[in-house]
Amino acid sequence: EIVFIAKESDPNEGRVAGSIDSVKKLKSLGFDVVVESGAGQGSRIPDQDYEKAGARIGKATDAKTADVILKVRRPSAQEVAGYRSGAIVIAIMDPYGNEESISAMAGAGLTSFAMELMPRITRAQSMDVLSSQANLAGYQAVIDAANEYDRALPMMMTAAGTVPAAKVFVMGAGVAGLQAIATARRLGAVVSATDVRPAAKEQVASLGAKFIAVEDEEFKAAETAGGYAKEMSGEYQAKQAALVAEHIAKQDIVITTALIPGRPAPRLVTREMLDSMKPGSVAVDLAVERGGNIEGAEAGKVTEVGGVKIVGHLNVPGRIAASASLLYAKNLVTFLETMVSKETKALALNMEDELVKATALTHGGSVVHPAFGGAMK
Ligand code: NAD
Repeated sequence: EIVFIAKESDPNEGRVAGSIDSVKKLKSLGFDVVVESGAGQGSRIPDQDYEKAGARIGKATDAKTADVILKVRRPSAQEVAGYRSGAIVIAIMDPYGNEESISAMAGAGLTSFAMELMPRITRAQSMDVLSSQANLAGYQAVIDAANEYDRALPMMMTAAGTVPAAKVFVMGAGVAGLQAIATARRLGAVVSATDVRPAAKEQVASLGAKFIAVEDEEFKAAETAGGYAKEMSGEYQAKQAALVAEHIAKQDIVITTALIPGRPAPRLVTREMLDSMKPGSVAVDLAVERGGNIEGAEAGKVTEVGGVKIVGHLNVPGRIAASASLLYAKNLVTFLETMVSKETKALALNMEDELVKATALTHGGSVVHPAFGGAMK
């Protein structure tokens, strides 16, 4: 059976769905691997390196022969037209709001999987693309902030005087936020952080950052069974905003990462809060693609309001593409391995498997995911 690793058609996507290690692993699972020429370019993987790992270098049209297509992003209509009916396609599908494209994949007879719907259970930890990519995004957010900040992050005591340490405030201490805290600490900043989940408090403290939050009864009950944040009441948000407003005025860099599953990102930083910051301060909004945590953050742009830079880069994991591809490719191959029979080394898709159930969007000509109008049979 043939696995095809596609070159991403989006020119702004530097990531690739296959690494040297993942190609080797796919070969050991019994697959023939075809890598589309140039697929690894944005992640610094030359065709020859894939070849050395055992892949054959092919063209876009070779996708037609593949049993499994691995991608970073959801295939375009044109790409879908180039796949054979019955093929498996695995990617970050971004399905919400793109129901028409999902139906088109069903119509083309594809069995498609959305990696971002992987359940966050122990068994699937090594397949969790939200974590693998958010971790790198958290790191990159600090690098981007440091790059826009006209001062040093660590305290420097020199013969010519002392440069004070930068104060960094991280809002949302999930996977991305915790890595942002760790990275800012490594660069010598004085770091504080907030979250609405009580479990975050200890994690923030263990990284050596100060936890800032209104810790009332609502806060103590704010975590869902799945470990995610709940949308907070207006009353809580107002109390928290007052505390944050006072704190932000003293910060040099703010990095926001706050998300609530299935809801627009909460607005955490207002224009007034930005106005209270010193000129030259930097605010990075990692939630900009989901509506943004920071007032005035523009997707894909670095803007300036009253001397404060607001960073709204899109596809932040793609800004650190070579590392992001390495982890993403591992997530993919680990998932695909669960679909391969150990005895026959052939694909043996089990639609009853909980990982398959959670991530399958289309199968057998229909949309099967319940969140997109499908009924899993
Ligand atoms: P996320 O990307 O959905 O949200 C980022 C953070 O924003 C979360 O910590 C959330 O609590 C926070 N947030 C939401 N509203 C906020 C507000 N108004 N103010 C401040 N912060 C706000 O979350 P995530 O990074 O995907 O992680 C969520 C949880 O899932 C974490 O506890 C994480 O450790 C856990 N997790 C578990 C597994 C696993 O068990 N396999 C894997 C990954 C993550």
